[in-house]
Amino acid sequence: MWQKCKELQDELVKMRRELHQIPEIGDILPETRAYVEAKLNEYGIPFVENTHDSGLIATIEGGKPGKTIALRADMDALPIQEENDVDYKSKKDGAMHACGHDTHMTMLLGAAKVLNENKANINGTVKLFFQTNEEGSRGAERMVNDGCMEGVDAVFGTHIGCILSNEIPSGTVIAVPGCCMASFDKFVIKVKGVGCHGSTPEKGVDPVNIAAHIIINLQEIIAREIAATRPAVCTIGMINAGFAYNVIPSEVTIEGTIRALEEEVRQELAKRIGEISKSTAEAFRGSVDYEMIWGAPPVVNDDEMAKLAADCARDVVGADKVIDHIPAPNMGGEDFAYYLMKKPGAFMFLSSANHDKHTDVPHHNPKFNVDEDVLWEGSAVFVRIVDKFLNNK
Ligand SMILES: [Zn+2]
Ligand SMILES: [Zn+2]
Repeated sequence: MWQKCKELQDELVKMRRELHQIPEIGDILPETRAYVEAKLNEYGIPFVENTHDSGLIATIEGGKPGKTIALRADMDALPIQEENDVDYKSKKDGAMHACGHDTHMTMLLGAAKVLNENKANINGTVKLFFQTNEEGSRGAERMVNDGCMEGVDAVFGTHIGCILSNEIPSGTVIAVPGCCMASFDKFVIKVKGVGCHGSTPEKGVDPVNIAAHIIINLQEIIAREIAATRPAVCTIGMINAGFAYNVIPSEVTIEGTIRALEEEVRQELAKRIGEISKSTAEAFRGSVDYEMIWGAPPVVNDDEMAKLAADCARDVVGADKVIDHIPAPNMGGEDFAYYLMKKPGAFMFLSSANHDKHTDVPHHNPKFNVDEDVLWEGSAVFVRIVDKFLNNK
């Protein structure tokens, strides 16, 4: 069944380029949804729109009853001004598909078309999740809370690009057991002091000085409290402090991110950041408001489903273009984790890194692009997985 996807290649490139020109950010993606729905209508695949955002779930009922498999694509773009000089460049100022989610929708629509045309030969049900706001890690969580995983037996998704490395040749599929990506969360610490003249710090409480101590102290959590064998990152990416050289401000804002490969480590980081920033501020007569804005948990593949995905990828692209083990998980995050918390499944990577085609630029870069030759492969791997999981073929 998957071989049919090869014939779709030109159609997939066209679709991807059309979607690439209409990037939308966040939860509400009216043009993107309209595009996806038009394709589903053309193929004759029924769908239900989400009530809370522009996501939707399409369903292909097989000819005979059986298990249910879910395949997922994310639909959102990024607030980036595209710098690629291509005739399918983003038509929207300050918005760009710089993470490849345009290809995710395309590959899933391609798979949907082939699966729907062959539905008489499918035992069971295929659900197609088109979710919003992966970049803000809200889309998947909302779909899961709305019950999208009820009745689903396994879930699969793919990320295109060069997330793991731009040295992995284009067309390679990576499907690994266990954790493949980290949790990602954001924290905000508001350090509160008492503003005063820079010449008389004793008359106030200096939040800039307190913030400096907090920033240094937070690194002790990973250096001294988390075992070196349990990877974790704590990065402070933003500090907002002060407005004049001789004025002690009354407040400083610190923002950062934590990454972990285990939920337990993630929770420990969140707890200790709060405790250390509070006690550090109190030691110097200040206080803090601390907030952890939860992103997504670690992405943990089911061993059996990861093996199934790797086996299916081998059938499609050949054994030499499948990686089923990586030396270490990636410290980036993906809200696909929410689906995997509910049911077994696997999150795959499809490399589109090609030095000659300049598609080896990092994700979220204004010059990010993909090697479109791999689009049919993404669809074909999905179709092959459905055939194997539902039909046991
Ligand atoms: Zn991204
Ligand atoms: Zn992405």
